[in-house]
Amino acid sequence: MNEDLLNDIKHLLQWYRLNYGDEIALSEDFSLNLSIEEEEPAPAVPRAVPPAVETDVPSADTAKIHGHHPKLKAFYEQIRDCKQCDLAKSRKHFVFGMGNPDADIMFVGEAPGRDEDEQGFPFVGRAGKLLNKMLFALSMKREDIYIANVLKCRPPGNRDPLPDEVLQCEPYLKQQIEIIRPRVMVALGRIAGQVLLRSEASLKQLRESTHRYNGIPCIVTYHPAALLRNSGWKAAAWQDLKKIKSIMDDV
Ligand code: SF4
Repeated sequence: MNEDLLNDIKHLLQWYRLNYGDEIALSEDFSLNLSIEEEEPAPAVPRAVPPAVETDVPSADTAKIHGHHPKLKAFYEQIRDCKQCDLAKSRKHFVFGMGNPDADIMFVGEAPGRDEDEQGFPFVGRAGKLLNKMLFALSMKREDIYIANVLKCRPPGNRDPLPDEVLQCEPYLKQQIEIIRPRVMVALGRIAGQVLLRSEASLKQLRESTHRYNGIPCIVTYHPAALLRNSGWKAAAWQDLKKIKSIMDDV
């Protein structure tokens, strides 16, 4: 058995084990358990403790955002108070991005959701946990990647970004990509793929090819939130993960 095949089997088993525990899947009809265990409820805060003061992203955590990288840090400071579109009025937090500024791979999502807006970091809710599982299947951790969204502020009710919002905000993403200079990019979901690739193709069509973003290989795959809603896409998602792994191995 060649080494590539062995690696494929190893990563497939990791992916299944993460989702199934130690059950073995014998047919393609089974449904992948993408449920994310709920976290233990936080212990009640004693009354004597004063409530936390609401601030923008806590300064102690900004290292997660820019990794002390001088250019990324300066850019974050430059745009963190952006009010260029109406989303600034309804946001709780500006969500710049997060991760390793020296990452070889950069993931791009669509926009912050409720959890991201609450916490100021991308992919921190249930979708974030599933993203961690996807990374594990690629033998990676969150510390190995950089992740950012097309929009830095949450659209109300998680609606799709409006063209004008994308127009205002996308230059920030372009600048982040320019600073991080990843070797591989992964667009999570149709909207991220369409914006990055200047395409109106469907997610299905976008998933069919390896694209180029300014010369960087770019794969489009499912947004983890979509996989949480539809576990029927798990086999296709696995194919995408294999493609990402193969490109990472080649670049
Ligand atoms: S979505 Fe982008 S352009 Fe609009 S206010 Fe937020 S950071 Fe600025």
